[in-house]
Amino acid sequence: MTNPTGAPPAPTPRVLVVEDEAKMRDSLREGLEMEGWVVTTAGAGDEALRLLAGQAFDLVVLDWMLPGQEGIEVLRRLRARGTQTPVLMLTVRGELEDRVEGLESGADDFLVKPFAFAELAARCRALLRRPVLGTDEFLRCGDLQLDTHARLATRGGQQVPLTPREVDILEYLLRYQNQVVTREMLERDVWRQTNRFTSLNNVIDVQIMRLRRKIDGDRADRLIHTIRGVGYRLGKELA
Ligand code: CA
Repeated sequence: MTNPTGAPPAPTPRVLVVEDEAKMRDSLREGLEMEGWVVTTAGAGDEALRLLAGQAFDLVVLDWMLPGQEGIEVLRRLRARGTQTPVLMLTVRGELEDRVEGLESGADDFLVKPFAFAELAARCRALLRRPVLGTDEFLRCGDLQLDTHARLATRGGQQVPLTPREVDILEYLLRYQNQVVTREMLERDVWRQTNRFTSLNNVIDVQIMRLRRKIDGDRADRLIHTIRGVGYRLGKELA
């Protein structure tokens, strides 16, 4: 089925690199930016968790050995929040038991230092291709489902009539569910306008308000939440 607003939202991959060694961190940033990705870096675990709470990422490259909070602890906390973003762990310890511990904590892949950058890039590309939430066709959160091919949304089995733009926004929020989607991300990836003279913030807020009325109505279990001054998050209410 054709999409009246053009191609479906195609986000530029957003990668978070968490590495305490400055030289390594800078070279990873440089290399991954060459892949055309948006790269953010953190030098410590608490900084990484702060960034992950404030905006959505498609992939986290996480060093195991970090001062203070170890990478594995960062990963545990991230998964405890319900975030399903793929995580590639970097480790100097190649022992099997560490890998088992890491996999049980929710790491998606491992790379043992030292490694060739081409190897890291290949692993990153593989993780970015993997659908994070079920199949690519059906995106779900609780009793909300979007059939991305037919572009039909249902909540509790009832069809929710949406405009083409609303379907685009919903698909985007579902792909980044349990993460914060900023207005800047929606402006770039859904509206595809980055060089506007005036901000689209008001337009975006109004559209989300309408979408929320249709999806959440006056239900108690609301799924679309406003993060004041930042953007929106689709997911279960945080305790
Ligand atoms: Ca380290």
